[in-house]
Amino acid sequence: MALVYQRPGMPWMFEGARRAGVDVVLIHRPNPRPDEALPAQLPPAVVRTLPLDIFGDEAGALAAIEALHGERPLAAIVTALDVAVPFTARAARMLGLPGLSEETSFAVRDKREMRRRLEQAGLNTPAYVGLSGPEDWKVAADLVFPVVVKPAGGFTSLGVTRVDSAEDLETTVRSVWEVCERYLGYGGSSVQFEGLVVEEYLDGDEYCIESLSYQGQVKIHTIGYKGRPEGPYFEEKVYRAPAPLSPEVEWSIIEQITGAHAALGVTDGPTHSELRLRGDDAYLLEMGARVGASGASHHIVESVTGADFTGDTFRIAMGREPLGWNDPVWHRGTGAMYFVPVGGSGRITEIAGLSEAAADPRVDRIVQLLHPGDRILPYPEYSGYPGFVFSRHDSYEDAEQFHDALDESVVIHYE
Ligand code: ADP
Ligand code: CA
Ligand code: CA
Ligand code: CA
Repeated sequence: MALVYQRPGMPWMFEGARRAGVDVVLIHRPNPRPDEALPAQLPPAVVRTLPLDIFGDEAGALAAIEALHGERPLAAIVTALDVAVPFTARAARMLGLPGLSEETSFAVRDKREMRRRLEQAGLNTPAYVGLSGPEDWKVAADLVFPVVVKPAGGFTSLGVTRVDSAEDLETTVRSVWEVCERYLGYGGSSVQFEGLVVEEYLDGDEYCIESLSYQGQVKIHTIGYKGRPEGPYFEEKVYRAPAPLSPEVEWSIIEQITGAHAALGVTDGPTHSELRLRGDDAYLLEMGARVGASGASHHIVESVTGADFTGDTFRIAMGREPLGWNDPVWHRGTGAMYFVPVGGSGRITEIAGLSEAAADPRVDRIVQLLHPGDRILPYPEYSGYPGFVFSRHDSYEDAEQFHDALDESVVIHYE
């Protein structure tokens, strides 16, 4: 099977492929960033690597995949990278393999289309407007502030900015647009979802939901807590599952997530969804039709339920039934993910505290993507995540205490 633009440092997709018994052709960027560089020793299950520029030369990339398929037929094509979801869906259709429809692959990538469909389906939707250029900012001035300005097809919170009053709206819209020009190619010819969304700020807790679908049936595996980020920029900090939830909130989350799969047309494969509360009501922020967190959602799901989340992702992509599909989801542990905080900007001299954390028996794995010598640009620019601490716990409270301790001990030092 072909795996598109998977960061080699994030091992869960590769390990899932191995468990599902498939060989992987890793399709990678011709010029990878430091946090995506190919190691000398290939990750598990990878039998071959193929550099393809899927955004700059889509036609060439599709032709290369067709040639690959001719040599040794692909059983599936998969990605965990949100921006590569439409390309991957197109490649799967071209080869007659299971995958998302074109419509669905756009609806999960373009936040304007996503909002439109959720609203039409009667799901919870904050007041919002779509902007096709920075000069359109005035159409957002009637929303109730605070609002959030974000790229229509962005990722990892790039450019996402809170605005507290109508007076600051124009300045923020223009600066978010500039970030989009620099990092998403706005104003260029090959950009797919050029535009912004402005929507009301949802002030409640944030949650992440990991689900699998198979033949139209949705199975929610975990609902995890993501903190209560207040902005103006939204750096991710923690992820712990299963989150303690009141029955009202849990019901609202299940209803919105199930409804969103139907509204967006996601019938097969994994989804990684983010939502926030307003009171006890859950509002979807986005649904990615892929394994979340570059594959790390597997760590969360597996720690909580024991399910083979990435393995099942490959099984579904090959048209097979996930393992234990008819068994209920059973929560038997707590999974946690800590995002090493950037805490500044400049050239990194040291990331302190990670080797100490690695010695903790609750720590399953540490992934370090940036190293001394690499550069972190100041917010709202994007340099990639420095690293993560993955752990397992007997209780949610223990995971919370562990994360509080990491807040004290893990620090990036800059030149
Ligand atoms: P991205 O695709 O870049 O991750 P998101 O829509 O997920 O964009 O936004 C990133 C983060 O910004 C969210 O995880 C959330 O913390 C915050 N955010 C986005 N939209 C809203 C909103 N309407 N209200 C409150 N917070 C929001
Ligand atoms: Ca996203
Ligand atoms: Ca997000
Ligand atoms: Ca996220």
